[in-house]
Amino acid sequence: MYCRKCRRIFDGALCPECGKDKWIGTPNPEDPCFLTERGAPWDGMLKDVLDQNGIPHLDQSRMGAAIGQRAPLLQSNRIYVRYDDLARANELVDELFGPDAPR
Ligand SMILES: [Zn+2]
Repeated sequence: MYCRKCRRIFDGALCPECGKDKWIGTPNPEDPCFLTERGAPWDGMLKDVLDQNGIPHLDQSRMGAAIGQRAPLLQSNRIYVRYDDLARANELVDELFGPDAPR
């Protein structure tokens, strides 16, 4: 499922981020989805790899400006990609950080 508020893909009936089902629905291909959260320098590295693979990505500050949400928290390095790029982006994250690394 997909939570439109938190921009997260998840299994189950309730969003793990907001704990609600209010904004849950089926994602559209162009919907931004939470990929991972990394501190520097890993976020920059990951963005470079996404760029090299032609996967458009958004960080939270740019997304906040684009969709009018509240200002991002300090030091937030959440990275979002389109839903139809999410599977490939997850593979790249696995290659970069290992499959057992926390998201
Ligand atoms: Zn949510």
